[in-house]
Amino acid sequence: MLNKKTAIVTGGSRGIGKAIVYKLASLGADIALIYAQNGEAAEEVCDICRTQMGVSAKAYKCDVSDFNAVKETVASIKADFGTVHILVNNAGITRDGLVVMMKEEDFDAVTDINLKGSFNMIRHCSPLFLRNREGVIINITSVSGMMGNAGQANYSASKAGLIGLTKSVAKELASKGIRCNAVAPGFISTDMTGDQTENPLVRMIPLGSMGKPEDVADAVAFLATAGYITGEVLRVDGGIAI
Ligand code: NAP
Repeated sequence: MLNKKTAIVTGGSRGIGKAIVYKLASLGADIALIYAQNGEAAEEVCDICRTQMGVSAKAYKCDVSDFNAVKETVASIKADFGTVHILVNNAGITRDGLVVMMKEEDFDAVTDINLKGSFNMIRHCSPLFLRNREGVIINITSVSGMMGNAGQANYSASKAGLIGLTKSVAKELASKGIRCNAVAPGFISTDMTGDQTENPLVRMIPLGSMGKPEDVADAVAFLATAGYITGEVLRVDGGIAI
């Protein structure tokens, strides 16, 4: 279904991003995986894509919050793969804390990576999409960005900003054949969430349990191929944000 398409997945070395990489590769997409530090994990994911799924895959170390580093990385990906068709902005971090005590650097780090990092990627991939007159952008936001969450002012702000970015980019680029949507996960079991068995919020999930990275990956694959949907925010949250 995605044969001859190249997908960039940021934060593809672990957690939700890794599941997205495997899902898109299983549909035939070639993979450019961006990671921050964990080169061994990134190479392992690419190796599985190549050997078990038969697609091309390459890992690129890049801090998505660095405008010029993203520019250089997208240029390298273009040189290696020819062009890009799908961009999944998944890289993200948390630095939780109460707003009254939150350090400036913790607000900046989270918004720089989660929000500005997605802008940087969209900014440098868009010229390729415009040239191709096609492109798909999928931003991984969060239900925290829709509902707010005590202890996550920085994270919620970054993810709410990402929803605004998604809708503006969708309106701006729709006439050029470029779609932009967001997926908003709830509680998904990854390194980021850790052990949540004692979290009272988890007990409030209507569907009764935390989600899996594959649940988010399925939504990404749907939006990658849903040609008449743009500017949408698709919750994958077991109903927590109903
Ligand atoms: P994770 O397991 O902590 O993985 C984070 C990924 O992002 C890693 O691949 C990491 O690379 C990469 N990364 C971090 N900082 C980066 C940077 N500056 N530049 C490039 N890559 C960077 O996280 P996750 O739980 O899978 O979350 C993935 C996305 O889903 C995030 O945007 C998160 O906010 C969102 N989300 C998660 C949940 C949840 O419950 N897990 C809920 C809602 C939304 P390295 O391996 O090199 O460190």
